[in-house]
Amino acid sequence: MGENCCGEVKAGAGVCELNLEVGLKQGQKRAACPECGTPGKPVQRLTVQALLGVSLAEMQEGEYGFCRTAGCRVVYFLADGEQVFTQDQVRERVFQKATELEDTPVCYCFQYTVGEVRNRGKVILEEINAGIQAGKCACELRNPQGSCCLGNVREMVKSRGKTKQ
Ligand SMILES: [Zn+2]
Repeated sequence: MGENCCGEVKAGAGVCELNLEVGLKQGQKRAACPECGTPGKPVQRLTVQALLGVSLAEMQEGEYGFCRTAGCRVVYFLADGEQVFTQDQVRERVFQKATELEDTPVCYCFQYTVGEVRNRGKVILEEINAGIQAGKCACELRNPQGSCCLGNVREMVKSRGKTKQ
């Protein structure tokens, strides 16, 4: 075992899709985004720390949620609604906020964009799966939603499949 200050981080441990509900304890309600009112998805502090483009000194105590509403500028919000971080305070363009743009990332680990997934989604799905199998993904550190992109990619491929000639 080597030196690793982040020993807790199981990046690419092959549990990609299992940590979707991380942070939500039993009986805990999903906090709603203070701006759009939609219940957000709890994210690990680590994800917020990794993705913020502003000083981490600004982070407060408490649980953060992720807002996936397309038209809402909020990306992360404190569960008590006292603080929000918006798209311009986050390092990455958030997939859910800009799905219409070709160069918006879908997979932040292996760097596939909306345009690429539209063009060769099925192949990309396989490539992402292979990357996950090989333990190369780090969704909680790279994807603003704090979990694996596979669901988003699958959804795009599915809806694409219906309209493809
Ligand atoms: Zn919102």
